[in-house]
Amino acid sequence: MVRILNGVEIAAQIKAEVAAEAKLLAAAGVTPGLAVVLVGHLAASEIYVRSKVKTCAELGLWSELITPPDSVTTGDLLELIAELNARDEVDGILIQLPLPAHLDTQRLVEAVSPEKDVDGLHSVNAGRLQAGQPALAPCTPAGIMEVLRRSDLAVAGKHAVVLGRSNLVGKPAAVLLLNASATVTVCHSKTLDIGRYTREADILVAAIGRPGFVTVEMVKPGATLIDVGINRLTDPAEVVRFFPGDTARAAQFSQRGSTLVGDIDPAAFALAGAYTPVPGGVGALTVAMLMHNTVKAAKARRGSVLAKYHNVVTVKG
Ligand code: NAP
Repeated sequence: MVRILNGVEIAAQIKAEVAAEAKLLAAAGVTPGLAVVLVGHLAASEIYVRSKVKTCAELGLWSELITPPDSVTTGDLLELIAELNARDEVDGILIQLPLPAHLDTQRLVEAVSPEKDVDGLHSVNAGRLQAGQPALAPCTPAGIMEVLRRSDLAVAGKHAVVLGRSNLVGKPAAVLLLNASATVTVCHSKTLDIGRYTREADILVAAIGRPGFVTVEMVKPGATLIDVGINRLTDPAEVVRFFPGDTARAAQFSQRGSTLVGDIDPAAFALAGAYTPVPGGVGALTVAMLMHNTVKAAKARRGSVLAKYHNVVTVKG
């Protein structure tokens, strides 16, 4: 029997835990706060940002959405980030990516104080993660680990194969899996004969942004398939190819003019031991982990206030 790993349910558990923590923190006079910086008008970014701000409100976090004009420069944003770094009530700073091409993304990501870097993209957090030290981990890879952990899927000793090596998903996913004692192989666009590796994977994480790239022949029977890819299909022939006989998908497609598929051909899911669907899998975890990171950042940075609340006794000498 193939297990479907329901990301929406797992995200709901995490959000409930975050809300409970936020309530405790509020009792100690601390409301975790997230500042979101959105530049430009990418429809997908606007949707993501709206969902982040809305989820903050639902869970008892405070948020601020800053939308600088299109003419904003890297220098202007550096000033803004410096101000957000200095504001005590701001626990997390998120610069929604991608930024318009005229802005220096790397410089801006590095300007965020590592302790407020709730996206986990600052090199200090990437380095800490690599060194196995406490860090703010990027939300999507952290969400993948939560799916595995909360579904009681063992990682230690397993062969995990990660497709993709971006700083946002593939690389940190590989590091987190390695830190959890998996044996990890990372594949990318220059890897020759990717199937040779994927067929050996007990855990396969696909994060390359190529619709249905992983075919049935590339999967080891019984493997755990984690599909990170979010690819929008607009060609009806593609919908029929990936979802033959799926009347619900066909109806959704004719209503909306598009539907989503991951990086794994849905036909391969039948072979799996467990898999995350698209949509409703890993995607649902990303915002939940952002909320988790914001509360974690608040606790780490405003620990002295919380120490009072938690009744921590420090013994000196
Ligand atoms: P990205 O920055 O474009 O990186 C893509 C990675 O895939 C690169 O490492 C690239 O290799 C590799 N790649 C591309 N084509 C390949 C091929 N044919 N064979 C093997 N490797 C290939 O993308 P990303 O930000 O990591 O996102 C990956 C996917 O995850 C996208 O579909 C994105 O929408 C989705 N995503 C989902 C969430 C979520 O919340 N679920 C969050 C973020 C991203 P090179 O390094 O060699 O170029």
